[in-house]
Amino acid sequence: LLRVRDLSTRFFTEEGQVNAVESVSFDVRDGEILGIVGESGSGKSVTALSLIDLVESPGRVTSGQVWYRNPDLAEEFPDAADGEFVDLRELPTRVRRTLRGPSFSMIFQDPMSSFNPSITVGEQIAEAVEVQRRANANPRSTRSRTQGYGLGRFILDGVVPNRDYTDPESSRRAVELLEQVGIPDPEQRADEYPHQFSGGMLQRAMIAQALAGEPDVLIADEPTTALDVTIQAQILNLLRDLQDERNMSIVMITHDLGVIARMCDRVCVMYAGEVVERGTLADVFDRPVHPYTEGLLGSIP
Ligand code: ATP
Ligand code: MG
Repeated sequence: LLRVRDLSTRFFTEEGQVNAVESVSFDVRDGEILGIVGESGSGKSVTALSLIDLVESPGRVTSGQVWYRNPDLAEEFPDAADGEFVDLRELPTRVRRTLRGPSFSMIFQDPMSSFNPSITVGEQIAEAVEVQRRANANPRSTRSRTQGYGLGRFILDGVVPNRDYTDPESSRRAVELLEQVGIPDPEQRADEYPHQFSGGMLQRAMIAQALAGEPDVLIADEPTTALDVTIQAQILNLLRDLQDERNMSIVMITHDLGVIARMCDRVCVMYAGEVVERGTLADVFDRPVHPYTEGLLGSIP
């Protein structure tokens, strides 16, 4: 689905330049769960955000290239350099305006970060539905497709849905999404505020909000780190079921090898801002080549 090459991100701080991510390359295949594992500070989160940045507005702090595979593009673009993949940056503006690019949704460790505490959960998911509907009606660029994560994004893009006029159809869809992620009494829960949800339930609601964005790629950044083990297992199962039903790809970021073993088809190991190892689970677990991975595997009790 996506090929990412030489993704680099640097920050400029008072102490100087920080190369948070250095020349990272990976592929996200159709419908797979790709794991990104690495210790704290190794650049996992920055890689995820940079990937979205690279697709939306390359060249600010992020450099690299991304190829995207879309059947519509292949039709429009028979000479696409690499089979059906096209280089998003070389896409003529004309094409970018009419064809949709990849759409991402993101979920995080802390579901509170995805919700406004003073608006009901149902309303916030309905907003995400509405934004996505507008984007579908007007696929002006890849950017318009990626508003589904975080309220800030809507405002950034100048699309602030008017809450007083939330379409009943969007509200219905929001309840449907809550039901799909396994929230009991979804109709009633939709009218509740985020603080009325338990951690696990709010995590589910955040997944519903992410699904409202109709993602091709769901990026899950430590989605279960803060949950107790039983809830963690439930959320992981939910994600796997959703991936299966919708055939979306998931990028699963975690420092927990158990999560990787349970969920992922392939895995990238990051260390100090670089991908030091990649392959199928068996490749990486049975035949680690980098000392960090060996240490990581050795640390399992
Ligand atoms: P964790 O497991 O703790 O979430 P991570 O692998 O996600 O860690 P990143 O958040 O990607 O790590 O951070 C990678 C590096 O980039 C770190 O050294 C961090 O200090 C640095 N970094 C991240 N964001 C910024 C920023 N806005 N400004 C400066 N440095 C940053
Ligand atoms: Mg992180």
